[in-house]
Amino acid sequence: MSIRPIVLHPDPRLKAVAKPIVAIDDALRRLAQDMLETMYDAPGIGLAAPQVGQMIRLIVMDCAKDRETPRPLALVNPEVVWRSEEEIPHEEGCLSIPEHFAEVTRPAEVKVTWTDLDGTPRQERFTGLWAVCVQHEIDHLNGKLFIDYLGPIKRGVITRKMEKLKRDLARDKPAPKGPEAARL
Ligand SMILES: [Zn+2]
Repeated sequence: MSIRPIVLHPDPRLKAVAKPIVAIDDALRRLAQDMLETMYDAPGIGLAAPQVGQMIRLIVMDCAKDRETPRPLALVNPEVVWRSEEEIPHEEGCLSIPEHFAEVTRPAEVKVTWTDLDGTPRQERFTGLWAVCVQHEIDHLNGKLFIDYLGPIKRGVITRKMEKLKRDLARDKPAPKGPEAARL
């Protein structure tokens, strides 16, 4: 396993639609393990393949509150097939947009279908932080970021700050690290 570099906003790979996965093989399982390791290391609770530059429909997440009992999930070709009418606001962040957080309102519960790394079709109804996270990660597969839910002014401010961060990083300044819970 290895930790992969995370693609930072703004980047065209974070705006593109990822391709469906047609074969579940060892290379895909290795990528999923790398993504989980990268996510835990960041630290974060979710990561989508485009965030490590792989333009395929794979996400990983672990929203278990207790880090002593982790629940790593890897979802191949995940799809939201049902959304609750009830919506909840949640303060979101993103490993591709470090140090920026904003409230996003999404359905409180979703039913998601996917294929697991053994090729078995799965489905689950997600609530709470799991529901927030799975919707945020599936958005990544469709080239959508949480800042796309904000107004153009707020989004522009964040994007300009991120452009500056990327210039600073290119000059080798260390990136700031933030609270773990909201980083998806
Ligand atoms: Zn994200």
